[in-house]
Amino acid sequence: MKLKILAISLIISFLFASCGQNQHNTNSKKTQPKEFVKAPEFNDDSAYYFVEKQVLFGPRVPGTKAHAECATWFVDKLENYSDTVIVQSFKARTYDGVTRNGKNIIASFNPKNRNRILLMSHWDSRPFADHCTDESKHSIAIDGANDGASGVGVLMEMARLFSLKKPDIGIDIVLFDLEDWGPPTQLELYDSEAWGLGAQYWSNNPHIYDYTARYGILLDMVGVKNPIFPREYFSQQYASFAMDLVWNYAHDLGYDDYFVNRQGGATTDDHYFVNTIAKIPSIDIIHLDRETTNGSFFEHWHTTNDNLENIDKTTLKMVGHVLMTVVYNE
Ligand SMILES: [Zn+2]
Repeated sequence: MKLKILAISLIISFLFASCGQNQHNTNSKKTQPKEFVKAPEFNDDSAYYFVEKQVLFGPRVPGTKAHAECATWFVDKLENYSDTVIVQSFKARTYDGVTRNGKNIIASFNPKNRNRILLMSHWDSRPFADHCTDESKHSIAIDGANDGASGVGVLMEMARLFSLKKPDIGIDIVLFDLEDWGPPTQLELYDSEAWGLGAQYWSNNPHIYDYTARYGILLDMVGVKNPIFPREYFSQQYASFAMDLVWNYAHDLGYDDYFVNRQGGATTDDHYFVNTIAKIPSIDIIHLDRETTNGSFFEHWHTTNDNLENIDKTTLKMVGHVLMTVVYNE
């Protein structure tokens, strides 16, 4: 995905709005400590295994053997863990005018329950390492250990845990395809709609008629050490209640240093299309660190170094802990 440049006035007004909001939240937390149900323990070794397994297939670039094999593995696992699995095959045109085949994979728990939440991540990996400083590497597909596999790994572990203790609410885990085939940065084509093709397709064609959920949570790049998850701009704009809910749990669980209460940039990630097309209020838990020079994303974003060496189990565990707490307190 890409970081969007916003008009300065919009950023300033958001800053004021978010500062006011955060101030309010902090105060209310001090006066009303929340009690909550302890969720089944998130297993970081298992989550790491799910990340590793994806990476070992090779880059999950649509049209490749690794992509096809990984899809089969997801379906096999999720059919064991969930009540229903739907594979949504679709065609979408990438920025270069080529029509590609994608697969969104949807696993549902308690499918008849109308009270639902949506958990999302993208499972494809980027076909180019266009952010490598070494130009000779630009045409190499990336491992996508963090950018893709980390979020999916957390969701696969949650699916495994849901199979052991079914949540009370309905859950849909959606693994989007073709998120990351946006134009190489060198082309300077700034087309938001060239990203998130699977999410755009699903948002226009949900896997079941009349589908809705109360809110959605997207995970993207949730695997590196010492992450910074700020309040991403579109999440705050479209789903501030869900953002407050998740960030408040993170606060109560002691993760303030990572789920930080400050504005993050506006990211054209899958949640943008789920918000604007499917109209399901959705947030993005995404590592955005304004201290880095790499478009605010993590250091190895869209490079060949986005590999298993940079995946930290502690981060997977924290994100899983927060999300499991959210789900089992619904
Ligand atoms: Zn990416």
